[in-house]
Amino acid sequence: MKVKSPLEIYRYLPQTNCGECGYDTCMSFAAQIIERVVKPTDCPPLVRDAEKDEKVKKRLDELISLTSPEILEIVIGGENTVKIGGEDVLHRHELTFFNPTAFFYDVWDSLDDKEIDERCSKVVEYKKFYVGDFLTLDGIAVRCTSNNPERFKQVVKKVAGYGKPMVLISLNANCMRAALEEVAKERPLIYAATEDNWREFLQLALEFKVPVVVRSKNLDKLKSLAKTFKESGVNEIVLDPVTEPIGEGLKGTFERVIQLRRTAILGEDKDVAYPIMVTPISAWSIEADEISKAYWETVIASLFIVKYADVMIFKSLEPYSIMPTITLRYNIYTDPRTPVQVEPGLREINNPTAEDPVFLTTNFALTYYTVESDLTSGNIKGWLLVLDTEGLGVEVSVAGGQFTAGKVKDLIKDTKIEERVKHRYLVIPGLAARLQGAIEDETGWKVLVGPMDSGRIKGWLEQNWPPK
Ligand code: SF4
Repeated sequence: MKVKSPLEIYRYLPQTNCGECGYDTCMSFAAQIIERVVKPTDCPPLVRDAEKDEKVKKRLDELISLTSPEILEIVIGGENTVKIGGEDVLHRHELTFFNPTAFFYDVWDSLDDKEIDERCSKVVEYKKFYVGDFLTLDGIAVRCTSNNPERFKQVVKKVAGYGKPMVLISLNANCMRAALEEVAKERPLIYAATEDNWREFLQLALEFKVPVVVRSKNLDKLKSLAKTFKESGVNEIVLDPVTEPIGEGLKGTFERVIQLRRTAILGEDKDVAYPIMVTPISAWSIEADEISKAYWETVIASLFIVKYADVMIFKSLEPYSIMPTITLRYNIYTDPRTPVQVEPGLREINNPTAEDPVFLTTNFALTYYTVESDLTSGNIKGWLLVLDTEGLGVEVSVAGGQFTAGKVKDLIKDTKIEERVKHRYLVIPGLAARLQGAIEDETGWKVLVGPMDSGRIKGWLEQNWPPK
């Protein structure tokens, strides 16, 4: 996005504050464009005027161009979708990354139907709770290994029944056509157009209106393929610079991916400003045992989640492969401008009584869920007061003034905890020890300094609760 402030956008809008867009003012609408919540075409009067007046149309087109992400955003899927690309920066801290790398898991059409069902079910059912969110897998990649159009079509239809976005994999245009005749309305990503088959794949992408991957290890050829597709009317393109899994090959892959993204963002080269596909599944071509292949698949994925894969294809569905990649993805793609936080207030842990301890923590999600999980899994009964520290952890918020005795006093009052317990003892985190006196003065409660690490609360309680 070329514009950085709502004011720059405001001058392109009708400035009538009519509210048709759902926002009270054109300025609030402009702020939402910056946040990518709305698009310029969500302003009805602007669109209506553009249909009647060439000058307004020019203004709208200019605004669309100024507010479009540097990397094209593509939507894969029919009823359920996943967005890829749409990035604006090379480094997360410069703004944020918007669309997490999409994870697709491989099934192939020479598997028997039972195995296909098992793999698809694993993709659909995978769910991991992490810092207040459920992490899930995005889609299924269906690979044609039979080279038989009928079989591929049959398997693709079966997989489509699982409702996940799909990548269809075959270099054989006849097989791909057969599959698309069955599932084009699900808008799968088709993989891949190469120097050998690009004419047929261009025809397929145009005819079925589906996004397409272009593939070449040679970046000039890759760019030329993308340019040809674009000039022929295919707008949704993904670049695959070919993933080589080990040694110099892996180094070369890394360099190609970096070069593509740098050229697109720093060099403003629109011919390569597309999402990038990386295929960690290529690790399965290494001569090694299965665990080692899965290990390398995870290593490759981790490298390119950080830089700059928008979509990936995996084989291993083992929890030890999925957990590190999905957790890394979550952390890279959280918005650094907004700390991950939970609602402040009072939580009851394991049905506490009026005699049980009252603990204090912050509303930084990672801290909160760690403390909550340590208390719950340790079968500790208690009351947990969650202080609004603007999403910051204990040490930082104590130092930065978001964790203060005055705020603790307000929290005690707002949550009416004094009506729920008979005692007046508050257990504060060890990292907030320096506020012990101030909190006692403000609240009139006796403050006990708990351990630095909530994993030690159970042992700490054995020594310190009930207070003597
Ligand atoms: S619909 Fe357009 S003109 Fe009306 S308030 Fe929204 S941005 Fe402004």
